[in-house]
Amino acid sequence: MRALVKPQAGPGLELIEVAEPHGGPTDVKIRVLRAGLCGTDLHIQGWDPWAAATLAPPLVVGHEFYGEVVEVGEDVPAGTVAVGDRVSGEGHVVCGHCRNCRAGRRHLCINTIGVGVNRDGAFADYVVIPASNVYVQPPEIEPDLGAVFDPLGNATHTALQWSMVGEDVLITGAGPIGVMATAIARHAGARHVVVTDLSDVRLKLAAGAGAGLVVNTSRQTLREAQAALGMREGFDIALEMSGASAAVAELIDNMNHGGRVAMLGLPKQPYPIDWGKVITHMLTIKGIYGREMFDTWYAMGAMLQTSPTLADAVRSVITHRVPAAQWAEAFDIARSGQCGKVIMNWED
Ligand code: ZN
Repeated sequence: MRALVKPQAGPGLELIEVAEPHGGPTDVKIRVLRAGLCGTDLHIQGWDPWAAATLAPPLVVGHEFYGEVVEVGEDVPAGTVAVGDRVSGEGHVVCGHCRNCRAGRRHLCINTIGVGVNRDGAFADYVVIPASNVYVQPPEIEPDLGAVFDPLGNATHTALQWSMVGEDVLITGAGPIGVMATAIARHAGARHVVVTDLSDVRLKLAAGAGAGLVVNTSRQTLREAQAALGMREGFDIALEMSGASAAVAELIDNMNHGGRVAMLGLPKQPYPIDWGKVITHMLTIKGIYGREMFDTWYAMGAMLQTSPTLADAVRSVITHRVPAAQWAEAFDIARSGQCGKVIMNWED
């Protein structure tokens, strides 16, 4: 089969022929139809310090995907997943026996293995994952939409930390997850939804997904944005999706007292925080990682089922569809930042 592989330590990837993977008794084998590019994949291609410290090549990369089940292991319980099912995959494979796993908090497993990071991934004609990592999709979820459930899950997990009904919400960072979180904030009943970024291309996507106001912080401050909206007291809830220290400083400076901040964007390195403001304004700051298994998956499935507006907003995040054979072009587009989600078509 074809697979996009990190052949050895160092920069670069290669699309090569490799043996098809074979699953164990509790696994499923999936024919990949679509796969989405993520920042993680760019880090792996570029071989940054995180990638060098984390990966053990050779490795098939990629973790955002949608496909069709072609084999089911003999010990997979009947009625859970069957050959022919269309599925998305949860990319965190958990141990099942640590304290958090045993308590049902699998997203907090201390032994998590990442598909496409610590084990072979989904930028390939076939991928094998445990049956328990599969989310069976209904027919109305088309392949492209099914391929963004991983980042949509990040957005959902972050946005639904607290009730947004009637709240003023700030989202810093208009990458694909920030744009999807914008749509969810709108769906969840927020009053003002303000989105910041430095890219007008990305801010346009956020506006299309339901942002009431988009702010290019190279030209306008959040104070000015608040004044334009008639806001006097600051934001009630913020979703940090940029990983940029300047955005975080601006965020903390514009929260209402008692504001709540969910942090998803991964910073490149540690940075200072105005802890005086965090303390005296009684801000709550919570780190978010991955998706709850599988509460987040059911929540996004249900929201998409009941809201065509939300489904269209999520679809609007996909700006580029590229045949898998042209993977290098897909990576170049994603690296440019002048795009939303880039999807590779493994059927082409
Ligand atoms: Zn565990």
